[in-house]
Amino acid sequence: MRSGPKAIQRGRRGVLAVAALLLAACAVNPVTHRSEFSLMSEAQEVREGEEAYPLYTQMSEGVFQDQALQVYVQSVGERLARASHRPNLDYRYNVVNSSEINAYALPGGKISITRGLLARMRNEAELAAVLGHETGHVTARHQAAGYTRQVLTGLLTTVGVAALETANVRGADVLAQGGLLAANLVLTKYSRDQERQADDLGMDYMTRAGYNPEGMVETMRILLESQQREPSAVEAMFQSHPLSSERLATAEARIPAQDRALLTPEALKVAPFQAATAHLRAVAPAYAKMDEGRKLLGEKKEAEALQLLEAATVLAPDQALLWVYRAAGEVKAGKTEAALSSADRAVTLYPDLFQARFTAGVAAYEAKKYAESINELSAADKLVPGQPQVAFFLGRGYEAEGERENAARQYAGVVQKVQKGPMAEYSYSRLVAWGYAKPPVDQKQ
Ligand SMILES: [Zn+2]
Repeated sequence: MRSGPKAIQRGRRGVLAVAALLLAACAVNPVTHRSEFSLMSEAQEVREGEEAYPLYTQMSEGVFQDQALQVYVQSVGERLARASHRPNLDYRYNVVNSSEINAYALPGGKISITRGLLARMRNEAELAAVLGHETGHVTARHQAAGYTRQVLTGLLTTVGVAALETANVRGADVLAQGGLLAANLVLTKYSRDQERQADDLGMDYMTRAGYNPEGMVETMRILLESQQREPSAVEAMFQSHPLSSERLATAEARIPAQDRALLTPEALKVAPFQAATAHLRAVAPAYAKMDEGRKLLGEKKEAEALQLLEAATVLAPDQALLWVYRAAGEVKAGKTEAALSSADRAVTLYPDLFQARFTAGVAAYEAKKYAESINELSAADKLVPGQPQVAFFLGRGYEAEGERENAARQYAGVVQKVQKGPMAEYSYSRLVAWGYAKPPVDQKQ
């Protein structure tokens, strides 16, 4: 199935990976000062993190659009970074718009926290605890070489397969899986020792930056309580950062040894946190409706779902993601014109959001506005390259426009990524009908 040049590229990448591994053989861990064979070079870490960060952000439903909050979170992160073992890396901290309770770090200091987790916090010390813990994973170089890219490659394939097994070739059914990009974001699974070390480093960094270490204990309580009350929301976080009552007990036991001057309500920094997150908390009820609506959409309760998704956009009309899921609900309900207008709203509010462009592209396709559909899907493909569902609808658009060669190129992209299911079958049948591919020798099915 795979073409020759691809295989050569893969081989070359293999050679480079081995070379990088050899170069990294004598790298010294900045935290432990021991030589470690598995470390990638700092340049490699930075490159990998920078490559993956925009994609991981898209997969986490884009950034939460509040520039003042982003600046605030970056500034809290920078205080921790300056107090860390690797103060010279170019750290980036952002708030992604996923409703899940999660935080993650990419190599080289690219760190994200979700809207869902921030909405459950009460003060800056809790935020500093989470960012400090993630910063600890970066400074202690817990991410193995090549892992981020592996996850991305695996993820893109998994997404395609998931789409195939569950979705029909109709746009409505593909869109109903609106969370496709976000659903399978599983990151490094850290060992218990790495978690212990990240906790220790996190507490060190936050206290050096002047925060009350109780923030660490409070954050762990929030996470453990969430696991009881809403286990699915914390699933991804607990997969990568196994949390136990033992970690909570360890953090509690460390408190008395910390600087007493920090054990004050002032050092929790409640007021600046409350001010910075005011907008995020104000739109939380709208996102709660969106989450409920998405769940109902998945359960095929379209009418109820659409009611909630509409209500969400009424509560917070400035939030692009709410319009994305409203549009998905409208496509599903056959309200094509309404879907187009909602998707347009999403694109206007957040032109660089993959989900907005993809939804707009599918809605336009359903409305038979093929040129517009191709435009939107091409924009989506630039934001997250190589998604088979994007290629599929691009193919359909080009096919409807009579541009057979362009359509064939897209269908070839689909069958390279996914090998079974309606999307692959349709794409393959077109390629065969147009003479780009030979029909299978043994007629299975
Ligand atoms: Zn962790």
